[in-house]
Amino acid sequence: MKKFIYIIFALITSLALVSCGSNSTTASFSSPNAKVAVSQAAAPKVTVQSVLAAADKGKYREGELLVKFKSGVAVKTAASLHQAMGAAVERRFAAVPNLERVKLAAGMPVKDAIVRYMQDPSVEYAEPNYLRYPKDSVPNDLYFNPQQWALSNIGAFAGGTAGADIKMPQAWDFARGSRGVVVAVIDSGVDLNHPDLVNNIWKNGGETSCVDGIDNDNNGFIDDCVGWNFADGNNDPTDNLGHGTHVAGIIGAMGNNGMGIAGVMWNTSIMPLKFITDFGPDVCGPGADFCGSVADEVAAIQYAMNNGAKVINASFGAGGYSQTEFDAINAANSAGVLFIAAAGNGTLDSLGDNNDLTPVYPANYNLPNIISVAATDQNDRRATFSNFGPNTVHVAAPGVYILSTVPSTGVSMSFSSMCTDSFVAGYDFCAGTSMAAPHVAGLAGLLESYYGQFTPAQVRATILRYVDVLPTLQGWIQTGGRINAYRAVTSLLPPDGLSASAQSSGAIKLSWTDMATGESGYKIERKAGSGDFVQIAEVAANTTSYSDSGLSASTTYTYRVRAFNTIPADSLYSNEAAATTSAGGSDGTNGGGGCSVGGRLNGPSAFGDTMVMLAPLFAVFVMSRLRRRKK
Ligand code: CA
Ligand code: CA
Repeated sequence: MKKFIYIIFALITSLALVSCGSNSTTASFSSPNAKVAVSQAAAPKVTVQSVLAAADKGKYREGELLVKFKSGVAVKTAASLHQAMGAAVERRFAAVPNLERVKLAAGMPVKDAIVRYMQDPSVEYAEPNYLRYPKDSVPNDLYFNPQQWALSNIGAFAGGTAGADIKMPQAWDFARGSRGVVVAVIDSGVDLNHPDLVNNIWKNGGETSCVDGIDNDNNGFIDDCVGWNFADGNNDPTDNLGHGTHVAGIIGAMGNNGMGIAGVMWNTSIMPLKFITDFGPDVCGPGADFCGSVADEVAAIQYAMNNGAKVINASFGAGGYSQTEFDAINAANSAGVLFIAAAGNGTLDSLGDNNDLTPVYPANYNLPNIISVAATDQNDRRATFSNFGPNTVHVAAPGVYILSTVPSTGVSMSFSSMCTDSFVAGYDFCAGTSMAAPHVAGLAGLLESYYGQFTPAQVRATILRYVDVLPTLQGWIQTGGRINAYRAVTSLLPPDGLSASAQSSGAIKLSWTDMATGESGYKIERKAGSGDFVQIAEVAANTTSYSDSGLSASTTYTYRVRAFNTIPADSLYSNEAAATTSAGGSDGTNGGGGCSVGGRLNGPSAFGDTMVMLAPLFAVFVMSRLRRRKK
């Protein structure tokens, strides 16, 4: 009779395994393949200590384990062990014989499960189901390494320091921008036909003809197909200085196109709005050929607001508070447009000035949509020429030896003192806070494209919060940090792999994988049956499980989880996961995930609970045997 019960138990177990997608039919794990594997390579011996040490160094999925049994171990032996652990087999692998992907009992820590599995003599090893990520996205643009040190510093350019950069390859694993995000470059125009920019120039879809002399989209500008020239009052915002083209390339030169450089955004829509031109010294003052007026600038801001720009780059400035300029940027704030402004370059002995004492406008206006940007060099030091200001300058970004696009004829004399004029046609190294600001504008656009649910205030706060604080910047600017695109982009990734598992008639356990890097915690939402989701709890940062109790018996509950931070902002939701509580009256268990057989953590009671759950099946089986015997 004992043997009879055992056979029934094994049968039921294998049924449960099959229902989980297992293809188990053999009585024991095959050994021929294992022999081949042994003869091929002598793998280093895996121990509990080595597995636990490795687990500390990698990210892995919660609630799962990879368990490899020794060759020749009976399937039923393995099944009993899983039963005792309250775990269930989800998959086997032809490529790695005797390996099983196991779903752990809800709430069981992966490391505890490793220790317990590896204590069993039938187990060769048990290890976490590690997460793997695409390799850092290094683009194939010709001059990416080592010239674009600002985006990825390998320490091989101009005596620079590896890692003194804004972490673009890591950020590009997640976000590369979008043509739908429009960044206005209010500057000296843009080389519209530059081969590394041409596909990322904004196109006014409403202006159906560019040459019919008609304002087709009725926006007040005739034939404005690619922006506007406010300096000359025409539809051609072609760059005659080189400055605006350099700025545009930093924000959005076409990335990974095998040519030239990569912009912070590989894909974007650069809206060229020209207001600076060669008015000459009569207008601009002694020794100055190029300048622009606030009236033309304000007209450009208004155009950007009215035609879909989310971000404005303003790599210009000077003294002289202008109420008009303030009001226009304030209007852009109301319209949800960010305004990224260069903090300015020093005038006295070319050393940087303190903007707290000597204001530079527009960077210095106290408006919530402005980010004032200082410049750092290839060693993460404040550029000597860069203005600073503990209260008025917010972040820093690279602004020395910045390689970007310029017109094929090079930059005008008026800008050449800031550039090297020593690189190939169409590209040049230039310096200035004018070059720092567009790194921030590009990051703002990247965040706009990736976090569609963010408000501009949330984008700005994310950029400011996730800087790398540097000793060379602390005390000099408000955040004391240089922007870090990777930290900003990954700050609120949604939780992954949410699973729900019923523990009893009144409790369900949730587990998920923490993907965010800067969260304050997680918000948990639940709905019963076909009801609406309601938030039921907030749990702390880095939490990966939650026990929901006080539930009704025999009821299906669905859950979703999202991260939140102090920006304040919420991530997108995780997947939804559902579980059904068991029938009331006892502490019967229920494998809510659809695969787990037992629900309890302790071996003996898990076995007992399993038998309770299987009792009805068992009774039916015995009855049928008895009936057959009678016949
Ligand atoms: Ca028009
Ligand atoms: Ca390119």
